[in-house]
Amino acid sequence: MLSEKELLQIEIKADLFLKKYAKYIKGKPYALDIDAILKKLKFEQATFDKPEHVRGYLLINNDKRQIAVNSNFQENARRFTKGHEIGHYMLEFTKLNLDLKRSPFLSYNTENCGSTKCVEEQSADFFSACIFAPRRKFADKVLEFARNDENRKLFSQSITKFADAIIDFLADTFLIPRSSAIKRCEELKIAVIPQYATR
Ligand SMILES: [Zn+2]
Repeated sequence: MLSEKELLQIEIKADLFLKKYAKYIKGKPYALDIDAILKKLKFEQATFDKPEHVRGYLLINNDKRQIAVNSNFQENARRFTKGHEIGHYMLEFTKLNLDLKRSPFLSYNTENCGSTKCVEEQSADFFSACIFAPRRKFADKVLEFARNDENRKLFSQSITKFADAIIDFLADTFLIPRSSAIKRCEELKIAVIPQYATR
């Protein structure tokens, strides 16, 4: 479990990252153009076909930079994984202060961590959530949805249907998997929604 301080440090790095790549955000609906950013950072992209628990990996070896994602996942999940791998790059690669020219080999693979996610994996997940669904924008969209008359009516009829609808809306708006939208609500303490989402 990451401490509040660790989370804050990751979020600050994610915000700086977003500031740097501000032009790679496709206006409305809010969507980060992760592929263009990877290209800018000179990452090659690849896919692989493996059992579903392996989501992706990051490989840095001399001049080669590659991010690969599992083709068995849906588009939004593959996007989120790219953000996760770039999170490893931004958080650990810079921390270790490795020299690209001399670095022998650096790769991350979710398999290495077993069933409980290690600190690096949690950190990379959180970085990805911060760049795809920034705090302020995410909270604004939650309010926008909750203030809509139709949605208010839905809330009074069925809190379960309301929760599912808002999670769908957030996932579609930020182009993230539903599971990540639910987790983001929890991270940002938008309390009433996740517990009631059924899917
Ligand atoms: Zn990872």
